[in-house]
Amino acid sequence: MNTHEMVEKWILDETALSPEESLQMKEHLAECHRCYCLYQNLKGSLTCIKQAPEKKPAPGFSVRWQQQMILRTKEKEKTDLIHRILKVSALISVLSISSCLVFFLPGNLIKTALYISDLLKFISVQIHQLGTILSVFKIPLLFIGIGSILLLFIYIIVATLSTLTIKRIRKGADSHE
Ligand SMILES: [Zn+2]
Repeated sequence: MNTHEMVEKWILDETALSPEESLQMKEHLAECHRCYCLYQNLKGSLTCIKQAPEKKPAPGFSVRWQQQMILRTKEKEKTDLIHRILKVSALISVLSISSCLVFFLPGNLIKTALYISDLLKFISVQIHQLGTILSVFKIPLLFIGIGSILLLFIYIIVATLSTLTIKRIRKGADSHE
């Protein structure tokens, strides 16, 4: 780095200089027009910035800013949630498509058919057994069925009669008043 570059760096970085360095800079500025201009311009600009009146934000700025931030955070959370749901549904569809592919492979299809026929056989055996059990308990079950239907009828009749009676009693009470 030559003196020119070094002085330029000192000017732009605004670093604190040692007495020797500031002397060196002064000497360079006296003889280098470019560095002198840079130094003067920067000094002028900084003075200008420092002297400029402080611009205050519009009233209620911080409140509005906070509200904006809350709104933005909520919107971000919403979009994050939507993204997450989309990701999960994409994963589920990929998984279901791949499992369908595996399921419908020729070898697996035969296995599945065998499994289903086993299941059907099992169900038919169960139904047959249930039929046997029912044939043994046919008469008692018949009695229970008829009994429950009769009980239902009795319940309906009693309920209707009691409702009618309550209505009649209320009517009577109203006419007495
Ligand atoms: Zn220079």
